[in-house]
Amino acid sequence: MTAEAAGPGNPGRPVQSADVVVVGGGLAGLALARRLADRHPGRVLVIESGPDAGRDHYRWVNDAGTADALWLEPTADPHFWQPYLPTDSGYRGIAGLRRRLGGRSLYWGGVAVPIEPWALDSGAWPSSVVHDLTASWRGGPSLYESVAADVRRWAGDRVPPAEPPLLLAGREFTEAPRAVREAADGRWQAYSPLDDWPEGVEIRCDSHAVAVIVHEGEATGVLVERNGERQVINASRVVLAAGTVENSRLVLQALREVDEGASPQVIGLADKLAQGFAASFDPAAVPPSLRRLAESGRLFLSRADGELRSSLFLQGRTNAHGMVIVDCYCMGEQLPGPAGRVWCEPGTRLPWPTFVAGGLSSVDERLVQDQRRALTHLHEELCREAGWTVGPLGFEDPFGSPDLADRLSAGDAMTAPGRTSTYAFPIGSEQHEAGTLPLGGPLLDEHARVRAVGGVYVTGPAVFPRTGAANPALTILALATRLADQLAAAEA
Ligand SMILES: Cc1cc2nc3c(=O)[nH]c(=O)nc-3n(C[C@H](O)[C@H](O)[C@H](O)COP(=O)(O)OP(=O)(O)OC[C@H]3O[C@@H](n4cnc5c(N)ncnc54)[C@H](O)[C@@H]3O)c2cc1C
Repeated sequence: MTAEAAGPGNPGRPVQSADVVVVGGGLAGLALARRLADRHPGRVLVIESGPDAGRDHYRWVNDAGTADALWLEPTADPHFWQPYLPTDSGYRGIAGLRRRLGGRSLYWGGVAVPIEPWALDSGAWPSSVVHDLTASWRGGPSLYESVAADVRRWAGDRVPPAEPPLLLAGREFTEAPRAVREAADGRWQAYSPLDDWPEGVEIRCDSHAVAVIVHEGEATGVLVERNGERQVINASRVVLAAGTVENSRLVLQALREVDEGASPQVIGLADKLAQGFAASFDPAAVPPSLRRLAESGRLFLSRADGELRSSLFLQGRTNAHGMVIVDCYCMGEQLPGPAGRVWCEPGTRLPWPTFVAGGLSSVDERLVQDQRRALTHLHEELCREAGWTVGPLGFEDPFGSPDLADRLSAGDAMTAPGRTSTYAFPIGSEQHEAGTLPLGGPLLDEHARVRAVGGVYVTGPAVFPRTGAANPALTILALATRLADQLAAAEA
């Protein structure tokens, strides 16, 4: 069987086999392939379901209004894709992937923070992985340190000096670490492994992984659909990096190949619990700290402690009506549990139809209330510091605003001080979906190997046993590096 390698960077070279096939050309898959190809003598091939539709970040090539629309009205983006069938329980609206080479690495906001110690040290994460992430990797710096240094090197001098910390409402806020480069006209891009892609690392676009091929308990390749035709790419090692839902489907299908009674469902799907408010202040009356917040336009962060399990983000601006607008939101950990799940309808036809559900557990409901109290307190303190009478914040709605896009832009229309508006991200719409295939859990060992099927590995947020409050990208990059080095070492 022959299959053409028509991916970028590898014109016309025939591909029927590779040593390692990486499924998914997004943040995790590209980071892993890049690192692996650098250290591994054999052939690494990335297969990506979507097209090569340009390699620049969406905030680099679009003005702010167009970019906001691509984020908040995903039907405006031809690459927006929910790889599952609709159900009533979450993961609708703006929740979804971007099916194109680069995946969501061309859309993310660049906030790059490690998972907090209270989540990593809770016992959910294997201690060996925690050590590698935070203490030392192979006798050198920790994975978090080395990945953060790589990203800083990438940003180079196109990153402005960090703002000094802000003391507001009795809390210290520091500028959120972001993996971004800025242009003079205010546009910016977040890090993508696709940037400056090395020659010779093969990528094959428009190639959808239908299934991992399993023979006598071992992976022998990947069944790929391209232009309506199905082809086999032989490989003894397959790394799944197709996002949490697709990774789950591919693992569930593979498990059935070795055990007819294997469950077609994984639980533990967790996104973030995120909600916030925008409030308007009189520019003539704001304290210097709020003025600095608005003038800098930068994103500030107060890191989550183990009690609230939510980070507080703060950003300011002056709107077209001259009001100082403060936007403040909590982003907290949804604990993995049975409410969040991915399941398939097994059948002879591949790929299996796939579904997701993402309700709130009672623990999540408590966190939502705790966040509302914290936000209300912060709003009261900000009003007091600005000498303004405190009005109610109005978190009376159920969690998850159906009109999220309108609420997020409510600050733009505020014409007088003392106005407030609240919002909450429906489950799935933070796009931090994770947790269905945890490292060291029943399906995956601590080296990210699928226990029941030889030669299959998983990378990406699906493997997080707990996510903490942190945004996932830094950990995604760190774990992709870890797995790449392990695969390379196994070969050496
Ligand atoms: C607007 C926005 C802002 C964000 N901001 C931040 C932030 O500031 N900080 C942060 O940490 N995170 C942020 N995120 C989340 C972050 O982008 C994701 O967590 C991360 O990209 C996930 O990486 P991934 O490789 O698992 O998935 P993706 O980057 O989505 O890549 C998956 C790839 O696999 C491909 N694929 C799927 N199925 C198949 C298949 N069957 N065969 C072949 N290919 C397949 C997809 O087309 C896609 O290219 C943000 C996301 C969005 C959308």
